[in-house]
Amino acid sequence: MPNKQDIREFSLNQLEDYLEQKDEKRFRANQIQEWLWKKSAYSFEEMSNLSLPLRNMLAEDFVINSLKEDFMQESEDGTIKMRFKLFDDNLVEGVLIPSKTRVTACVSSQAGCSLDCRFCATGFMKLKRNLFAGEIYDQVVLLTKKSIEAYGKPLTNIVFMGMGEPLLNYKNVLTAIDKISSVNGLNISAKRITVSTSGIAKLIKKLGDDGVRFELALSLHSANNLKRSKIMPINDSNPIQNLVEALNYFQEKTGNKITFEYILFDGFNDSEQDARELIELCNKVPAMVNIIEYNTVEGVSYKKSSEKKREAFVNYLEQNGVITKVRLSRGKDIDAACGQLANK
Ligand code: SAH
Ligand code: SF4
Repeated sequence: MPNKQDIREFSLNQLEDYLEQKDEKRFRANQIQEWLWKKSAYSFEEMSNLSLPLRNMLAEDFVINSLKEDFMQESEDGTIKMRFKLFDDNLVEGVLIPSKTRVTACVSSQAGCSLDCRFCATGFMKLKRNLFAGEIYDQVVLLTKKSIEAYGKPLTNIVFMGMGEPLLNYKNVLTAIDKISSVNGLNISAKRITVSTSGIAKLIKKLGDDGVRFELALSLHSANNLKRSKIMPINDSNPIQNLVEALNYFQEKTGNKITFEYILFDGFNDSEQDARELIELCNKVPAMVNIIEYNTVEGVSYKKSSEKKREAFVNYLEQNGVITKVRLSRGKDIDAACGQLANK
């Protein structure tokens, strides 16, 4: 018997047609979808406003491939890493990062990643597969539950900075965000969601054409093509000038905020000259800069910059009118920091 289809991969329309074929009322599709998304049901049995025969029929024809919590770890600084098991036993990770005013959830878009940025543990594990929209959605559901349990409050922000390159799973990421931000889903405003990308120019433009409402972060890490290509091979086919054009297009179409993420590597991209190149770039794109502390990954020869160098770099940017934030690493002791997610 062929594998049953995941019912969450069915659109409202498809579900209505299916019900009609089975001599059921089309409007039941709305009720089913409400169970699947808004109420995040894990089984058809839970769908108490549907008749028992209908529930049985759905269970006969479909599955709900929900994510399961597999493992959890809490850091000294309050950061929580959750590992989730997919229906096919692949694993992905999500992280909760609490601060005084926020709880940010970091979610995965793929199991592994096909791009091989030289500093990233996820890249080392290669791509297993794209996540389905429901699987991305489930991470937010489970992280919200955990956030309430651990910190007594729900999520305030979501970042796609876990495993994978979100734009290489374009359709499912956009569907998931659509559901997450919908009143028929989790009702978390898209304005509080940031998608981070290694930079695929034509897909950044597509985000503009699709009029998305979330914010965009570009993993820049160097404003110099030669250097960027050394640490991010994707830069060979998507050089900085193409990204500049795509980001400006995105900005014109959506008006949404853009951030450059910049990991400081000791002696590689942390000099005054590097800062000058970054400032020049910031004059071409309306973006702010997020300075990120490098998290050690086994087998990587790059080191993080000293505090002194970091301060000098940040000061130089600020003196030149670049809005700069520093993001110090969280959850390092449990490998929950950016770029350390590799199902250890
Ligand atoms: N694939 C997307 C999103 C996931 S990576 C992207 O590359 O943007 C999320 C962020 O973590 C990116 O900015 C990435 O450059 C950064 N990152 C990867 N490895 C890291 C490491 N070892 N230390 C700090 N940040 C890292
Ligand atoms: Fe993939 Fe992002 Fe890691 Fe690069 S930094 S390998 S794009 S997850």
